[in-house]
Amino acid sequence: MRVVRSVAAMQRIALDRRGKGSVGLVPTMGYLHAGHLQLVRAARKQSDYVVVSIFVNPIQFGPKEDFRRYPRDFARDRRLLQSAGVDVVFYPRVRDMYPEGFATFVEVERLGEGLCGKARPGHFRGVTTVVAKLLSVVLPDVAVFGAKDAQQAFVIRRMARDLGFHTRVIILPTVRERDGLAMSSRNVYLSPEQRAEAPALHRSLVLAQNLIRRGERRATIVKAAMRRLIQRESGGRIDYVEMVDTDELRPVKTIEGETLVALAVFFGKTRLIDNTTVKTPNPKL
Ligand code: AMP
Repeated sequence: MRVVRSVAAMQRIALDRRGKGSVGLVPTMGYLHAGHLQLVRAARKQSDYVVVSIFVNPIQFGPKEDFRRYPRDFARDRRLLQSAGVDVVFYPRVRDMYPEGFATFVEVERLGEGLCGKARPGHFRGVTTVVAKLLSVVLPDVAVFGAKDAQQAFVIRRMARDLGFHTRVIILPTVRERDGLAMSSRNVYLSPEQRAEAPALHRSLVLAQNLIRRGERRATIVKAAMRRLIQRESGGRIDYVEMVDTDELRPVKTIEGETLVALAVFFGKTRLIDNTTVKTPNPKL
């Protein structure tokens, strides 16, 4: 396994790989857990050559967010990726990804404005810009993302489609702890009490699934029930609980077809997100 630090060296490897089999890319911010490793295994299965990028991307963090204290442990990540059979770890420096005079940004309109985009203005612009750069540098045939960050995955899929990237975007299900909490590098921020309460988020999603399965179609009713559960079972402060269509990510009043149920809740300073996708039978069929 090679560790590549410079953008130019990564570009040379990507060009050299052309015509030698498929390339898979898994973009991450490191501090890897089983959710990331699931993406790496999928990339391994789907491609002949696997690149995992580790880059805590400053431009997707707001000025008051956790860029500086975001957890990092490259030595451990490297060992995990070596065992997972990765070919290249692309671990660029900030000044190489964003050299002096960097002025180009990629923005997907609308999709990045609601949900997490409201509390984190500019976040998705930072995400799409870095992913566009990674796709251009690594030239992957497939890029693998997690449904845990559903809005991010949808925004990236739209960007790849709109800009004609030849990369196929794959989205894999959320990997959870045994008690239902979605795995996240940020879970290390939680105090023992917060960690004990955090599975309430997943329970609220299961409640939504059950209500919808039993025939509830009014989004306001489902959202209110989810809010009540979160407030009853945790000390978390709700940022949003929302239900949107999976195409334009617009809030829906009536649940029909494919709907994303998404939430963000603060536990102290730590903002946790989670979501599930529900499918109702199409009444028109
Ligand atoms: P991050 O390092 O948090 O930026 O995440 C890198 C990739 O891993 C993104 O595509 C995430 O959606 C994905 N990911 C993070 N946590 C999980 C999880 N619990 N299950 C599945 N994918 C995940």
